[in-house]
Amino acid sequence: MKRFSEAKAITDYIKSIKKQNKTVGFVPTMGALHDGHLSLVENALQDCDFVVVSIFVNPTQFNNEADLKKYPKTIDADLELLRKKSVDAVFIPEYSEIYPDESSTQVRFELGNLDKVMEGKYRQGHFNGVAMVVKRLFEITLPDKAYFGQKDIQQFVVVNYLNNKYLQHLNIELVKCPILRESDGLAMSSRNRLLTKEQRKESARISKALFEAQKMYENCSIQNIENFVKNDIHENTKLQVEYFEIVNAESLQKIENNDKSQPAVACIAVIVTDSLRLIDNVLLSPINA
Ligand code: AMP
Repeated sequence: MKRFSEAKAITDYIKSIKKQNKTVGFVPTMGALHDGHLSLVENALQDCDFVVVSIFVNPTQFNNEADLKKYPKTIDADLELLRKKSVDAVFIPEYSEIYPDESSTQVRFELGNLDKVMEGKYRQGHFNGVAMVVKRLFEITLPDKAYFGQKDIQQFVVVNYLNNKYLQHLNIELVKCPILRESDGLAMSSRNRLLTKEQRKESARISKALFEAQKMYENCSIQNIENFVKNDIHENTKLQVEYFEIVNAESLQKIENNDKSQPAVACIAVIVTDSLRLIDNVLLSPINA
């Protein structure tokens, strides 16, 4: 496995790979890798001749300093996992490789208001930071395909918009991969490592409530589902639901009645402590987004 820290070096290398008519798959991550990340890697390895994984904790997408500070870092273990999967290259840049000067952190993207709802509403500037890093990483790694998790469904929708609006010339196909869960249903996340034993146990309530919502969607009103999910998660736990919304999986607009013709997804953010929140979602009807 080749390891790069300089943007120019990996771009040059990938250009030489592409000259050999090999396809390049790219999996962007913030490290502290788990099986969810590795499922993206496996998909990329199946589809592409050459697979690059990036590890970069992107400060511009954090709106909470404490969250950024305590974001888990397990670089040696990450490298070992990627080596075992036979990933071809890993890109671990310094901040200055992604943001070479002050102006590169000031770019503002128009993201079709997809960045204003749910996560965007509660994490000001988050998606602009995501857009900055994804654009830069795409320009550096020049992939044919890039792999993202449905775990961050809003991120996928925003990146898809970014890709269509700003990055057409790169001709990158986005691939969305299903959510991997722990045995009790909790969506895998790097932040799960930060949970205490009690918080970890309580957090299983999140996906349980979402799966119940999935069943209820057939016959119940959106209001009833919302009430159920919030009450169920709050009952006997210290968890706080920040938002629970049933939205169109492509436009992210709220679905007000059970309009079954729309591809629907139930999205949730739960505050565990001041600087620790978990997100999850379930599809309520099939989508091909
Ligand atoms: P992160 O390191 O949290 O930025 O995540 C990197 C990529 O892994 C993103 O595309 C995430 O959506 C994806 N991902 C994170 N958790 C999971 C999961 N439990 N299942 C599948 N993909 C995931």
